[in-house]
Amino acid sequence: MNKVFPTFIYFITLFIWLAPGQAQDVNLTGVIDMHVHAGPDSLPRAMNDLEAARRARDAGLRAIVLKNHFTMTADRAALALEQVEGLEIFGGIALNRAVGGINPEAVRQSVAFDGGRGKVVWLPTFDAEFYVKRAGTGATYVSVMKNGNPVAELVEVFQIVAENNLILAMGHSAPEEVLVLIPFAKKQGVRQILVTHVFGQDATNLQMQQMADAGAMMELDWLAAYTNPELLKDYVEVIQSIGAEHFIISSDFGQAGNPDHATGMRQFIKALIEAGINQTQIQMMARNNPATLLGLDQPTVLRTD
Ligand SMILES: [Zn+2]
Repeated sequence: MNKVFPTFIYFITLFIWLAPGQAQDVNLTGVIDMHVHAGPDSLPRAMNDLEAARRARDAGLRAIVLKNHFTMTADRAALALEQVEGLEIFGGIALNRAVGGINPEAVRQSVAFDGGRGKVVWLPTFDAEFYVKRAGTGATYVSVMKNGNPVAELVEVFQIVAENNLILAMGHSAPEEVLVLIPFAKKQGVRQILVTHVFGQDATNLQMQQMADAGAMMELDWLAAYTNPELLKDYVEVIQSIGAEHFIISSDFGQAGNPDHATGMRQFIKALIEAGINQTQIQMMARNNPATLLGLDQPTVLRTD
């Protein structure tokens, strides 16, 4: 047998090995997951805050944001940060009924807690008027608007968000409310606005374009596409038409039975790349844009996923 044949086999094998989406793994270095659920919680969770933080750190993530619907996470993030080195950990507060709804004092305390980890204020999520009415449960809800105007307490919340350079996340508000609240919050001095899983709020493509034009960042979450794979092509469509500079990607994982958050981010990035999203767009949505929201340095090196 001549020597060319084994060399040929070697290169063929190498080519198959490196074929896109097969053996090449996703590089999670520098990736930020801004939607991490973990226990303790009143909903069944896959792991606790510490385990979530350790796994994210071990997978190479740069930062996570701990989110809980019913209690603030600024304190939990500070404790987790003491236990897990090599990862930025942030928290915040979701303004559901458990913390008194639109309660400026709860936001003030979230900011004042040791460690300065209270970085995100989510408008009502499970208790949002839009969410409750759409579910048709008849449950008590928290309104962010009355007669077309933001409720008075919200004005005070926006001022605290602005003074402390926090991120205002829109929770489960209606797209119509979001489109009123973005310019209103900006007028109060709020700089960073994130539209929480924008597809979960039934926003149209036109509304998403308007949100982008108004200066908000929009979140695309893996949980929704993981449970409904049809959604991925809708994600790809808006990333391509509106622009990756207006989106972040997050896992929204943590539910009992689901994989860990880093695995979620890895699956998400892989699915997007296979659907035609390029490395520059991934870089923006997974690393640069979340870093901007959180006030972290911009990563300078383009990573290869
Ligand atoms: Zn969530």
